[in-house]
Amino acid sequence: MYRVKDGCPGCGACTAACPVGAIAQGPGLAVTIGSDCVSCGVCKRVCPIGLIEKSPEEDSDEKTDSGL
Ligand code: SF4
Ligand code: SF4
Repeated sequence: MYRVKDGCPGCGACTAACPVGAIAQGPGLAVTIGSDCVSCGVCKRVCPIGLIEKSPEEDSDEKTDSGL
């Protein structure tokens, strides 16, 4: 899973580029990456200001999402 750092101006490049439509633009300009993300890394590559990064928890413990 990837995440968007603070300061996104909402250019829309990542939203358009995500192959699974996991990036949504909120009521403001900033975008958020949803649970549909398959960690392909495309959004990270297209963001012109480098605001998208891999979530640190991906490499360690993924149990934070359990227990709905
Ligand atoms: S890593 Fe890939 S699947 Fe995940 S939000 Fe970015 S473009 Fe979409
Ligand atoms: S590509 Fe980067 S700046 Fe543009 S909407 Fe996505 S996160 Fe924001």
